[in-house]
This record gives sequence, structure tokens and C-alpha cells, in this order.
Amino acid sequence: MRIIVVGGGVIGLLTALECSLAGADVSVVDRGGIPNPEATSFDRHRVLRALHPGPAEAAAAIEAHHRWAEVESRLGTPVYHRVGALTVLGPGEPETSAATFAELPGARRLTEREAAERYPQLRLPRGSRAVLERDGGVLLADRILAGTAAVLAGRPGVRLLPRHRVTGVEAPFGLVRLADGTVLRGDAVVVAAGLWSRELLGPDLTDGLTLYRQTQLMCTVPAASREVWRRTPAIPSLGTAEGAWLVPPVAGAPLKLSAAVACRPVERTGDRVAPREVRTRLVLHFTALLQGFRAEWIERAEDSYYLADRDTHGPVLGQLGDHNAWIYAACGGSSFKFAPLIARSLAHRALGTGPRVPTGLRAVDHPVRMPGELALSPHHSTTGVAP
Ligand SMILES: Cc1cc2nc3c(=O)[nH]c(=O)nc-3n(C[C@H](O)[C@H](O)[C@H](O)COP(=O)(O)OP(=O)(O)OC[C@H]3O[C@@H](n4cnc5c(N)ncnc54)[C@H](O)[C@@H]3O)c2cc1C
Repeated sequence: MRIIVVGGGVIGLLTALECSLAGADVSVVDRGGIPNPEATSFDRHRVLRALHPGPAEAAAAIEAHHRWAEVESRLGTPVYHRVGALTVLGPGEPETSAATFAELPGARRLTEREAAERYPQLRLPRGSRAVLERDGGVLLADRILAGTAAVLAGRPGVRLLPRHRVTGVEAPFGLVRLADGTVLRGDAVVVAAGLWSRELLGPDLTDGLTLYRQTQLMCTVPAASREVWRRTPAIPSLGTAEGAWLVPPVAGAPLKLSAAVACRPVERTGDRVAPREVRTRLVLHFTALLQGFRAEWIERAEDSYYLADRDTHGPVLGQLGDHNAWIYAACGGSSFKFAPLIARSLAHRALGTGPRVPTGLRAVDHPVRMPGELALSPHHSTTGVAP
């Protein structure tokens, strides 16, 4: 069986690996390098935590924790730093439901005082509480992409085609058209084109998706506090109204700071330069939240982009007609941590073995029907000047 995967981000690469491990021949096509530094997946790190509002997502994240351990051993290099995850609940923020909490292995609740004693580098909001998860932590995103690409390159039956832009997919015939005129034919096609999906989908479908631009501060912590920071868990919420979060500096990666208020919808991708006012807002915010934080800690402020469903803010999976062709049309803001589950589900679909084990992620387990043909649309160019 021959599978064509369009897109060498975390979803495409792990799907290709699953298909290859199942014995299929696989071609991975990417408009950039494999990996492509412009991909949403391409960053130093991503957070994995199990605490989610819904028990199904929490269970999926726990499963993902185990699947990442498998990916790590397959890559043969440390890519998952299990420093745990700390979710701070601000004053008035609802308690984690008992059902969800019971699902989290080794999780414990911390009072404001316990959290402050344990993490003196944080200035937590008055009246906050926290949930500390033993499992979870930091995924080293760029190493995962490079490592998976390297493993794929060494596998029989795998063809990596970097710097080939896909201009069309004809699902009824398993055809994938490339910009240089080459046509690839497969028994199944999986498109995981990240935010560039908009260029392949028609305007009706694109209108249902929102492009987000997010500013992050990459920081070097002072030598005196490096040890404290190395032992800090990933903190997907610092309990503030602004939605502040941080990723600790592990494995040579910087301390990364951002907040929900630094994420805004935009029409088009542009440069990656952080606007001065967003940067200033983050600096003020983190000066209040982190002991000793100063703007001098910032190595660089950088913007990146992701595409999400307009209503759910999550991912979108589509089936092209009733054919064996699939498009992970939007990734949402948390597909990295679930990527091994999503990839396995996509591989099962493409291989015709079906999604044997549901992921627990609604959008992935219930794909929507999309047109059987995709073509690059000049009207929906993704690149341009950011508004
Ligand atoms: C600031 C930020 C923080 C985040 N934090 C987290 C987090 O902590 N935890 C988490 O789980 N998730 C997080 N996410 C989300 C996560 O990074 C994404 O959901 C995930 O990386 C998406 O991967 P992907 O493979 O779908 O897309 P991408 O990584 O964008 O890959 C798409 C690939 O397709 C290629 N491509 C596109 N069009 C074509 C074409 N026409 N022809 C050929 N190739 C094409 C591109 O070159 C690219 O390499 C974050 C996202 C952002 C922006």
C-alpha cells in the first residue's frame, strides 16, 4: 500500500512513521524543508499536561503521555522532559472537577501557600490554588521533528520530498499534484498542511477557520536561578485573567513566556516580529508574576501562527468526499501534545484499519465531510502583510 502524506509538521511526520511501521510505502511532501522552520510545529518546546476541562480530553492526554514515551524510545534521544505540569487556578476560577482530578495519575492539589513555598520564583495571584501533575512536562518540538524525519529517511519504502509544493489533490484517484508538474498517486492521501490548509480549501471551508498570531518571549534566566528554573514544571496557566503561561528552560531551551492576551486573530500570516505593544504588555505582566524578572532576560520576542476552528478553537479533520483521503485542516492550539494519538488515528484510517481506538478528541474521532478535490486557490493566499 502506498500512502502520500502532505506536510512534514508533527502530524504529518508521525502519521508517516505509523504508516511505515505498519508496512506501507510512504511519500512525505513538504513545501519547505523536512522539517520546515516555518511550520507551526517548529519551535523549541511544547507543553503536555493532562488536566483539561473535559474528562475525555484528560484521558487522551494521559494516553498521549505514554505514546510520547514510545516515540522517544523510537527516536533514541531524549525529547520528552517529564518535569510535570502546574496549573494555577486564579481566585474565582472553578475547582477541577473531582472526576477529572481522579483521572490524573500522581496529581496533587496545592494551596496558595504550599505552591508559594515550593516555587519561590513565582508570585502567584492572591487567593489562587494549584494542581501539580507528576506526569506531563515539556516536549522538545524541534528535536522531535528532526528526529522523526531522520528515522523516516532511514526506513525502507519511505520517500521524503522536501521543497515540493502540493497544488492539488484529487481524492477519487488518489492523486497529488506538485507545483513542478509531477503527479504522485497513492492508495490513500493524508494532508496535514497546518495553516496553509487555507490555500487548498475553498472559501466556504476557509471561512470556518480562524488564523491566530501569538507572541512569545524567549528568555535566558540568570545563572544564579538556573537550578531553580530547571526544576520548574511546565505551567500552562499562572492563574491570571490575562491567561499567562510559561515553559521552563529544559535541555538548553529558553524560558518561554506568553499569555492568552498575546494571541490574536489575524487575516494573514506576516513576519514573526513581535509588535512592541504586545511585548511591553507581556513584560509588565511577567514582572508582576516572576521574582526578579527583567526585560534583560529576553533573548528574543517572536510571533508564530496556528489555524483553528472558528467556533471550537480546536482542530478540524475532514474526509475528502467518501474517499480514502483526509485533511487535518486546522490544528488548534494543542495538537502537538496529542500528535501521537492523532497520527495513529489518521494512519489507521489511511491503512483502512479504521480508527480502532477512538482518541477521545471529538474532532479527530468525527471527521467532517469535505469536497473530494483540493486545489491551490489564488484567493486564499496565506502569506502577506500582517494587519
Ligand atoms: C505559540 C504556540 C504555542 C503552542 N503551544 C502548544 C502546546 O504547548 N501544546 C500543544 O499541544 N500544542 C501547542 N501549539 C499547537 C501546535 O504547535 C500545533 O497544533 C501543531 O504543531 C500543528 O502541527 P501540524 O503538523 O498540523 O502543522 P504544521 O506544523 O504547520 O505543519 C504543516 C506542514 O505542511 C507543509 N505544507 C503546507 N502546505 C503545503 C503544500 N501545499 N505542499 C506541501 N507542504 C505543505 C508546511 O510546510 C508544514 O511543514 C502551539 C502553537 C503555537 C503557535
